[in-house]
Amino acid sequence: MRKIDLTNFQVATSETARHINRRIALNIIRRYQPMSRADLARRSGLQRSTVSAIIGQLIAEGWVTEGASPISGRGRRPRFLHLNVERAGIVAVDLRPVTTRVGLAGLDARFLMQTAWPTPDTPEEFASELARTVASFRSAHPEIVYEGMGVSLPGRVDPAGRLVFAPNLHWGPVEIRQLLESAVGLPVVVENAACACALAELWFGRQPDDVRHLVAVTVSEGIGVGMLLNGQLIHGSDAMAGEFGHVTLDEDGPPCSCGKRGCWERYASNSAAVQYYQGLVGTAHMPSGPSPSAAAPTFTDILRLADEGDALAIKTLEHMARQLGIGLAPIVTGLAPQVVVIVGEVTAAWDRVGPIVLDVVKRRTLPSNTAQIVPTDPATQPRLRGAVTLVVQQHFGAPQVA
Ligand SMILES: [Zn+2]
Repeated sequence: MRKIDLTNFQVATSETARHINRRIALNIIRRYQPMSRADLARRSGLQRSTVSAIIGQLIAEGWVTEGASPISGRGRRPRFLHLNVERAGIVAVDLRPVTTRVGLAGLDARFLMQTAWPTPDTPEEFASELARTVASFRSAHPEIVYEGMGVSLPGRVDPAGRLVFAPNLHWGPVEIRQLLESAVGLPVVVENAACACALAELWFGRQPDDVRHLVAVTVSEGIGVGMLLNGQLIHGSDAMAGEFGHVTLDEDGPPCSCGKRGCWERYASNSAAVQYYQGLVGTAHMPSGPSPSAAAPTFTDILRLADEGDALAIKTLEHMARQLGIGLAPIVTGLAPQVVVIVGEVTAAWDRVGPIVLDVVKRRTLPSNTAQIVPTDPATQPRLRGAVTLVVQQHFGAPQVA
């Protein structure tokens, strides 16, 4: 139960019940489509007349479409309700320090178009580049109603839409939502990438309907954590909740982009793995391996080398796996999630990495901890899908009351 916030509440009006029932109906159709009005009345417990009124409104607004039953024969054929996934065009943006990926999706998070470009150095150049991309989407798909834009990024954004923390992006505080809204002319939702991924797992993932406590961990240049507890994203004061990546493991450890030393992400991120690998190569004097003077390997190179049997690359991934487990254990113990999803390139090597992660977590947590630690499928583009979810949940989420 939540205490009523006397500084920010909404009283119920005659519209409130209708609004709530409408959202419930829309979600039941999304989940069980195609379905008849009778099915909807049965599943929701609403009166048939109420169902008819709600469906009439949802059809008029284009959220739901009605098609004939595939069953032929005599008698009255029930018409089946579907979610109109093409109603809304959603622009999804996965902003990362090196590359930005932009997609155009419907309400089902399937992408009609995608493009990627190098991330510019400043938020202003980024906004201009994004405006050009959205213009190209609009000219390719003029028939779509553009509903909004979701942006997932490696940082934290406060409720006013101000970027307050983004050490790996090297952007200072900026009114990011306002900047992007005026550049592209659409409503914009900006959210931490891990939080967006956690939402995407809830709305589009393979998790059962009863999952209410889920943590998403993005492993890339740094490490981000998004927490969904009791079905709600946790933002904390100044929107900084989830910064486990910057929890100090060793005060004398390697310097971190946040200004401190020895943060978890300095041991378990992709960039930490690249540094660790370079350290191994530098001391190994392997005539067959890449020489220390060769171009710096990327994390993708390390994954490939490990696949090819390179002993140092394999050692690097095993080290990274142990470090991931060390940081995940307090999350599992302290938050007691049902599921922890891992997002990032490292999931491609989960056969090698996963068992080590699970073993370390098991040794460092209580026997009663039952959290499932699972990799996401990179083919689903979890970060981009997370950006779609930011807009989808605005139309399908539970209404805020009281
Ligand atoms: Zn740090």
